[in-house]
Amino acid sequence: MTQSRVVIIGGGFAGAFTARYLRRYAPRDWDIELINSTNYFVFQPLLPEVASGTISAPDAVTPLRHMLPGVKVRMADVIGVDRTSQEVDFLQGSKRFPLSIKYDHLVIAVGQKTNLARTPGFREHSFCMRDLADAHELRNHVIQCLEHADVTEDSALKRRLLTFVVAGGGFSGVETIGEMLEMIHRTLKFYPNVNADDVSAVLVQRGERILPELSPRLSEYAQRKLAGRHVKIMVGASIQSATATAVYLDNGSCINTQTLVTTVGNGPRPVTESLGIGLDHGKVPVDEYLRVPKSDRIWCIGDAAMIPLNISDGEERKYAPPTAQFAVREARCVAKNIIAIQKQEMPTAFSYKPRGTLASIGNYKAVADVFGVRLSGLPAWLLWRSFYIGMLPGFSTRLRVALNWLFDYFLPRSIVQISNNGQPATQYRRYARGDVVCKPGQIVDGLYTVVSGYLESRIPNPETGEDFVRLIGEGDHWGERSLSGRFETQGTLTAVEDTRVLILDKDDFRSLRAAFPPLNDYFEHVSDKIYAPILRRASSEAVTKKDH
Ligand SMILES: Cc1cc2nc3c(=O)[nH]c(=O)nc-3n(C[C@H](O)[C@H](O)[C@H](O)COP(=O)(O)OP(=O)(O)OC[C@H]3O[C@@H](n4cnc5c(N)ncnc54)[C@H](O)[C@@H]3O)c2cc1C
Repeated sequence: MTQSRVVIIGGGFAGAFTARYLRRYAPRDWDIELINSTNYFVFQPLLPEVASGTISAPDAVTPLRHMLPGVKVRMADVIGVDRTSQEVDFLQGSKRFPLSIKYDHLVIAVGQKTNLARTPGFREHSFCMRDLADAHELRNHVIQCLEHADVTEDSALKRRLLTFVVAGGGFSGVETIGEMLEMIHRTLKFYPNVNADDVSAVLVQRGERILPELSPRLSEYAQRKLAGRHVKIMVGASIQSATATAVYLDNGSCINTQTLVTTVGNGPRPVTESLGIGLDHGKVPVDEYLRVPKSDRIWCIGDAAMIPLNISDGEERKYAPPTAQFAVREARCVAKNIIAIQKQEMPTAFSYKPRGTLASIGNYKAVADVFGVRLSGLPAWLLWRSFYIGMLPGFSTRLRVALNWLFDYFLPRSIVQISNNGQPATQYRRYARGDVVCKPGQIVDGLYTVVSGYLESRIPNPETGEDFVRLIGEGDHWGERSLSGRFETQGTLTAVEDTRVLILDKDDFRSLRAAFPPLNDYFEHVSDKIYAPILRRASSEAVTKKDH
């Protein structure tokens, strides 16, 4: 079998398990490289428990380097795939250098992102439940609401602070609302001015019932148990818009709240869009062998892919659901198929019959449908916990999660709120004389304004062979030209003397420019003022040089 270099984009269930299976089944001399934006694997089904403080955030994830011995792990953001040259382009390191690597086989396993753009107000006022940061942010916010509700004298505000809305009645929505309520009720003893009756929770589901993946009987059971815990379930309804203080539904009603969690509205990641393939419902359509159209070396699996299932004739075509169970099976299939192709054998079509479905609804209750056996309540909850412990990668993660569960049973839930302010849009940085601030090709991370000292920008002029030189002193700025284009700088920026700069984050700079016309006008014209004379002078120098 010929040696091969396999690059996997994404370190979730699909990507990490592909790397694992390849390392297990492929010859040792194969290069297997996994690129992921973070250096850890997130077990997404545990996120609601991170949000509720049952499990601490670092204990719910597994470092990819622990999980994947023998696999090269690269922490970077993939920005595109060049199918002609068989290269993956990515940005890596704190300086965000654009680099690329070659592949013989490429596995795309980037999952999906939550598309908040479809509903007005979601982008600004909703919480997601997709990664560790989301869970952490939601937990801090819920504690913030409890703290505020306990001390406010304004009864309308108090009601709003204690109303929690979740959009989406699938697994993640149901688990999130169940865990959130569990956390609130277990911590109320620390908030003497908040009674259990003051808290209300609303689950909004567009479909006719919650947990549609389960049998109607189990879904009814879950609905009954949640209703018993004062969750108002609104089926056949959807949220039309949201503000900082309310959500508006399509049936004309309005719920005053400061907490909206959305678990619906998935959309494609930019990497899948960059493939230039027509997407199907935001997913990459693949054949039954998991190959991307018109390519026998690019594969796509997990939530990012639209995978046809082998269903007998006459039935409506079915596709693999976006679940962890399926992602792991797809990973195994793709690893075996890549090896088969290298051996010049036929790949195998993907097929999998799920063993069952489980969902926790909080308060030591769950619903389960396993091998056709339907369970609910405590037995289902115990099964749910043992199943997830078994699925967690690595002994140390399993032990940590089990200990978290054990401590949670005996100890009070922590209500420590770690700063919720996020990253500020600006930061100061100091450079010593001679420091190189930015090199050609590097991604500019913001607008630089010099507070004290001097920077020097040098851009090579290929016509004259000399550099365009610009000195940037106190009050001058740099970076706006790159931020108007593809963010890459062409020149070198160096500190002429000890220099302090204020950097406005690149995305915030762009948003501010788009929203504030005078600022935009300024930057449109300042470019002419600063760069046009330099460029004019340089081109006339080039002409004069040529004349001689
Ligand atoms: C709250 C919640 C509860 C769930 N509960 C269950 C459950 O009980 N049972 C079940 O079977 N399923 C459950 N699921 C679904 C399951 O978690 C997903 O189906 C599964 O995680 C999909 O795996 P994936 O590898 O395709 O995507 P993901 O797990 O999303 O992984 C994608 C990876 O790609 C990385 N990535 C993305 N873009 C880039 C880029 N440009 N460059 C580098 N890296 C990139 C991301 O950082 C991420 O690590 C749940 C999901 C959620 C959110």
